Amino acid sequence: MTSRLSSRAKMPTAVTKKKSAPRKSAVALAQWKLRRAGGLQILEAPALARLGWLVHSFSTRPGGTSELNGGRVLNLGFADWDSREHVLENRKKFFAAIGAGKMRVVTLRQIHSDIPHRVDAANARSAEAPQGDALFTREPGILLAVQTADCVPILLADTKRRAVAAIHAGWRGTLRRIAAKTLGRMQMEFGTRPDDVIAALGPGIGRCCYEVGSDVAREFHAQFPNAREWFDGPFDALASGENDPNWLPWLTMRPPGHPPPSPRVHLDLIAANRAILADAGVPLRHISASGFCTACRTDLFFSYRRERTTGRLIAAIAIRKT
Ligand SMILES: [Zn+2]
Repeated sequence: MTSRLSSRAKMPTAVTKKKSAPRKSAVALAQWKLRRAGGLQILEAPALARLGWLVHSFSTRPGGTSELNGGRVLNLGFADWDSREHVLENRKKFFAAIGAGKMRVVTLRQIHSDIPHRVDAANARSAEAPQGDALFTREPGILLAVQTADCVPILLADTKRRAVAAIHAGWRGTLRRIAAKTLGRMQMEFGTRPDDVIAALGPGIGRCCYEVGSDVAREFHAQFPNAREWFDGPFDALASGENDPNWLPWLTMRPPGHPPPSPRVHLDLIAANRAILADAGVPLRHISASGFCTACRTDLFFSYRRERTTGRLIAAIAIRKT
């Protein structure tokens, strides 16, 4: 052992010289891009787009065949207001546009849980969508898809073991650390190391628009020591259930007979999931977010909070067949 080490130490510097380090931080911080393909606008995370062995994409609103509020939209989720044929046509158009037209698509019956499902060649053929909120695989040719309209879609790629995951994280899934649990399953089943993982947090409702009540504040306070950083407004008062004297001057301005509104706070689901992934060991420079708020940008996305009757976006990822 010693002799091997010493002989290596004597090797010429040209041989032992380290490869130049990739500029990972620059990649993670690069602006996400809207790309035109197949008559659609496709949103991509630069850090995933540079990985040639995978396909990924976040869908946007314009360009489909569904009709919503007088406009044509790319609704990718089955809904009462839309026909099944339109959704299937939209999905076909979207999958073709991202180069996944021939892939097997796996979706979920999403229940705001913390349940990840491993997908392999055998269970991908099942007609029944599994119940849960995350999918992960190491099998090429299978497109993992989650549907959202405000909740945060998260895509993961393990660059060493070549595994991928798609996660649906609303406040309930975030509270239950679904992103970390999915990563944990990838570690357990594939030997994934968090250091090798690239994470992309897609368009979801932003801190600017996501108002929640004391129930949510209290639950986050109970689960995360640093939860306060993800909230704007009277978080401490709501989380502890105390009365905040700051509300009083405002409350007394209301006409008599009207019950005071319950105080609200704003939650930043992106910040929360970023912290959860970082806590699980994913380097911060590997985690990027789209920067889009679905409720602010209903021209580009769907927002359940803002519109109620609305469509669904899809975030999808797959390993290419070689
Ligand atoms: Zn917003």
